[in-house]
Amino acid sequence: MNLEHYIDGTHVPSVSGETFTSLEPATNRPTLTVASGDAEDVDLAVRAALKAFTDGPWPRMPGERRAEVLRGIAAAIEARDERIAELECGDTGLPITQARGQARRAAQNFRFFADVITSLGEDVYRVGSAQLNYVVRKPVGVAGLITPWNTPFMLETWKLAPALAAGCPVVLKPAEWSPLSASLLPEIMEEGGLPTGVFNLVHGIGERAGAALVAHPDVPVISFTGETTTGQTIMRDAATGLKTLSMELGGKSPLLVFDDADLERALDAAVFGVFSLNGERCTASSRVLVQDTVYEEFVTRLAERAARVRVGPPHDLATELGALIHPEHYERVVSYVRAGVEEGARLVAGGGRPEGLPEGNFLAATVFADVTPAMRIFQEEIFGPVVCVTPFSTETEAVELANATRYGLAAYVWTSDLRRAHRLAQSVEAGMLWINSQNIRDLRTPFGGVKASGLGREGGRYSIDVYTEAHIVHVATEDLPIPRFGLG
Ligand code: NDP
Repeated sequence: MNLEHYIDGTHVPSVSGETFTSLEPATNRPTLTVASGDAEDVDLAVRAALKAFTDGPWPRMPGERRAEVLRGIAAAIEARDERIAELECGDTGLPITQARGQARRAAQNFRFFADVITSLGEDVYRVGSAQLNYVVRKPVGVAGLITPWNTPFMLETWKLAPALAAGCPVVLKPAEWSPLSASLLPEIMEEGGLPTGVFNLVHGIGERAGAALVAHPDVPVISFTGETTTGQTIMRDAATGLKTLSMELGGKSPLLVFDDADLERALDAAVFGVFSLNGERCTASSRVLVQDTVYEEFVTRLAERAARVRVGPPHDLATELGALIHPEHYERVVSYVRAGVEEGARLVAGGGRPEGLPEGNFLAATVFADVTPAMRIFQEEIFGPVVCVTPFSTETEAVELANATRYGLAAYVWTSDLRRAHRLAQSVEAGMLWINSQNIRDLRTPFGGVKASGLGREGGRYSIDVYTEAHIVHVATEDLPIPRFGLG
């Protein structure tokens, strides 16, 4: 199968004719040939989007009308959600049952932002009866969207829906390792009734196509999700053009278990939080911090549960943990398992390739106990099915451990002492914190991280802030005094 770019309503190869190959994670066999975009292709896409911005109807359409199109796009996704899930499962190695959930969520993203754009008001500031100041939200211009390979379709729509809702034409650069599901977006956008040129797609390598999008002078806003180091590069590159940036970056999120918690539910959350979505999840609860009074019991039960996580072919309905995205990523995750053993952590579950799966990027659900902050597996984002467990004795120590990495994306607290839970909510450094809950998202709330986990927030009106400029208009409703200069 060949995948092309989609620019100004047309499927096109790269100007250079260059392509790259994409692999199927369950076998590592090549399945796709994909157009490899470069600065010239990005420029064509940006020009199409800019024309749609300056001359087209989209930015000028009333929010109600744009919302109708977004709902049409949601319906077009729903009409093919099984196909999206199938493609994503094959292309990323995600278990089919979880890929289906992500496809449904993609449609929900469009329905949700249709509602946001029709319910958002604009602010008015009155100064007595003398002056009226009102804010007009204007679409920023062409939005550059750069996305990662984990849950690619859902994350692409998480950016597309608010950018389009705000009135911005877009150029999307999907991740090189997961280009397939994005190839359905052109027909989805057309079926939804999006005007030509508003949605553009350029496949390619990050350092070339992605960097060209960041550097393009006619792209005033970049919304990026990916690794922290890539985010740093993009920030440096975007500085020349003083671009608006939204940065959703890496994580190493702690899950804190106190001895007064409902341990069975905390265990369910810990297992699901790190092994769902193949552990390739930015908000994965990859560090479990457990009070010493229940530590050994929790480690034993976590190891037992991990050993029973069903690793298997992504298309198998029984599979809970599929194949990791790419052999290069697989080798990286396995190298962390080796590092954990070498650094003296106690491997209590998994650690290797499960039996019966000789090819593809399969790794058993892996648990390390007795992990200390000095170890790399405690500090660095592994982005796979590997969890580190560390004991603590006091609340103070729990907070110190929770905050002992450079990341600050999510945190999860399990305790029946609500006063303590709220204290921790103040002192744990994380953009998002759940108390006695797994990661359940309310799409209206701000999503994002602190420290090395990101800059800015997305979700609800926070996303609309990324793609709009607040334009203030001052109106005198009485004759306000004007200092009289130039009278001699
Ligand atoms: P990467 O940072 O490697 O890539 C993300 C995207 O950026 C890809 O499309 C990539 O292209 C592109 N890219 C790479 N280099 C550049 C560059 N110099 N300029 C512009 N674009 C570039 O992330 P991964 O794809 O490996 O995704 C995993 C990471 O994403 C993890 O760190 C994870 O935590 C994070 N993530 C964060 C989330 C959050 O909301 N905080 C949510 C989901 C994931 P290419 O594919 O060719 O490399």
